[in-house]
Amino acid sequence: MGYFRPAIEAMTGYIPGEQPKPGTNIIKLNTNENPYPPSPKALEVLRSLDSEWLRRYPDPFAKEFCQAVSEVLGVPADWVLVGNGSDDVLNVLVRACAEGADRSVVYPMPTYVLYRTLAAMQPADVVEVPYGEEFQLPIEALVAAKGAITFIATPNSPSGHCVPLEDLRTLAQQVAGIVAIDEAYVDFAESSALPLLQEFENVILLRTLSKGYSLAGLRMGFALANPKLLTGLFKVKDSYNIDAIATAIGTAAMRDQSYKNACAEKVKRSRTQLSTDLKNLGFTVLPSHGNFVLATPPDGRAEFLQQALKQRGILLRYFKQPGLDDKLRITVGTDAQNQILIEAIVSLLNS
Ligand code: PMP
Repeated sequence: MGYFRPAIEAMTGYIPGEQPKPGTNIIKLNTNENPYPPSPKALEVLRSLDSEWLRRYPDPFAKEFCQAVSEVLGVPADWVLVGNGSDDVLNVLVRACAEGADRSVVYPMPTYVLYRTLAAMQPADVVEVPYGEEFQLPIEALVAAKGAITFIATPNSPSGHCVPLEDLRTLAQQVAGIVAIDEAYVDFAESSALPLLQEFENVILLRTLSKGYSLAGLRMGFALANPKLLTGLFKVKDSYNIDAIATAIGTAAMRDQSYKNACAEKVKRSRTQLSTDLKNLGFTVLPSHGNFVLATPPDGRAEFLQQALKQRGILLRYFKQPGLDDKLRITVGTDAQNQILIEAIVSLLNS
C-alpha cells in the first residue's frame, strides 16, 4: 500500500505564487496584494497586544469579528463563519459538501485554480464550463451540470471581469445545490452579490481581508450565509482556525471601512492608469474590477517579459493554460511601482 490515498497520488498540488521575505526591494506584483499598509487602527491593536494573547486559545468562532462584520455589512452575526484566509473557508465548504460524481464541483473557466485542487483532494468530480467569448456566464451549462457546489468568482481571477447580479440571481434560482460566490476582490468593484443572501438559502458569499484590507499575511477570510447552510461547515472547520491576534487585528480593520475604501479608490485610479500605459505599449488589457489586470504583451512575449522582469526584481504572474494563452496577470502597485514596471517593460521591448 502506498502512503497516500489514490486521489492524492493522482492530483497536482496547488502552487501559490513566489513569496520573498518582506524587507527586500522587490516590486511584488504577482499575488494581488494591496500595495498600501493595513489600517493604522489595526496596526495600533497589533502593538497593544501582550503575551496573554499568545498564551491563551483563541475564540473558536471569532465572535468579536463576526459582530464587526454584522455591523458593517448589515448581516446577522450568526450568518458569518470565519476562516484562516478565504482559502480555508473554500476548503471547509468542499469538505462539507462535495464528494464523488453525485456531489460534484462546477465552475466556469478560466477561474481560481484552487477550486479544482480542493475537488481533486476530496475527491469530487469536477465540471468545468468555458466562459463565453466576452466572459458571459454559461448559465445553462452550469445548471445542467447539477453541482453540489457551483463556484463563481466575481470579480474573477485572473480575467478581472464581474458577473452581473442578474446572472447570479438566475443561477441561484435554477441550481439546487450551493452557489458559492467568491468575492475576494469585491472591495475594488462597484457592486456585490450581498442582496442575494436574503433571497436564496443556497447562496454563500466568500470574502477576504487579504486584498481590500491589506492583510494577506494575517490569514483571515469569512463566509456569509444563512445559519442553516453554515451548520455543516461549522462541523468541518478546525476548532481554532483563526488565531487570537488575527481576530483582534482583523476586527479593527473591518471597523475602519473609510481607510479601506480610500485605499481601494487609489488602487482603482492606478488600475486605470496602468491599463492605459500598457495599451500604449501595444498590450491588450482586459477591463478589470479587481486589483490586477490581465494583459497580453505584443508579439507573444509574455514569458520573456515575466522572466526578464524577475531578473530586475519585479514579480508578475505568467499564465499559460487553455483559454488563457500567454498572458501576464499584473497586480496594481503604487503609482511609483507601476511607473518602474512600465519603464522596465519599455526598455526590455526595445532591447
Ligand atoms: N479567491 C480568489 C478568487 C483569489 O484570487 C484568492 C487569492 N489567491 C482567494 C480566494 C484566497 O484568498 P485568501 O486565502 O488570502 O483569503
